[in-house]
Amino acid sequence: MSKYPFPPQPEVKAEIAVIGGSGLYDPEILRNVKELKVYTPYGLPSDNVIIGELEGRKVAFLARHGRGHKIPPHKVNYRANIWALKSLGVKYVISVSAVGSLREEMEPGHFVVPDQFIDMTKKREYTFFDGPVVAHVSMAEPFCNTLRKVAIESAKKLGIKVHEKGTYICIEGPRFSTKAESFVWKNVFKADVIGMTLVPEVNLACEAQMCYATIAMVTDYDVWAERPVTAQEVIETMQRNVENAKKLLYEMIPKLPSEPEECSCCNSLETALL
Ligand SMILES: [Zn+2]
Repeated sequence: MSKYPFPPQPEVKAEIAVIGGSGLYDPEILRNVKELKVYTPYGLPSDNVIIGELEGRKVAFLARHGRGHKIPPHKVNYRANIWALKSLGVKYVISVSAVGSLREEMEPGHFVVPDQFIDMTKKREYTFFDGPVVAHVSMAEPFCNTLRKVAIESAKKLGIKVHEKGTYICIEGPRFSTKAESFVWKNVFKADVIGMTLVPEVNLACEAQMCYATIAMVTDYDVWAERPVTAQEVIETMQRNVENAKKLLYEMIPKLPSEPEECSCCNSLETALL
């Protein structure tokens, strides 16, 4: 009997998934959409999954916080979300998330495609392997290089200011950091952007052997900068970011190779199962 815990997918309903973060709730770039309620062993995902097409590619869209933003980051059922996408046959997961910047040069309105993360979350469900099957997946290179490369090239083509590398520090939330914490994240941990949703989404996607990358959209500077911003400024930046994210997805999804090329994401369990 296979140790692999995920059920076989008899029919590929979607090969590419977008997990939309704050502000990105509506898959308006998709055609022929239908809505699916997906049941998983971990309960229901954040919302119904929207399935549709983009340039002949089958795409699934899931609002991470639910449409209308009803679920805070620490209450998202990450296992149900990732399981649901896996059960539809998804190979690529493109995560879109809003972040704060810890670097002067990563300005509000810029996009960052992180290559590393630091996990400072405290109380989440981090794995599909709670026993009896045990697995320790490698996280040395946590993000898919196929996805990262296509995202970076597409952003450049569209004239979106994109940072090609960065370390994303994930905090538990829902509160923001203190100034002392922000100083540590920036100067001691050398993180570049800060958010609340990457973990455990990224590690669960890896356990499910799906390619995963996140597009981190900078909304503001974290509190280290001591730069007062108005809610209006943040809202305007978020709206601009969401418009750019839609353009970027529209550009990058058709360019994804039918099979991942420059990554080992999909084989991560081969050396992980005990
Ligand atoms: Zn990959």
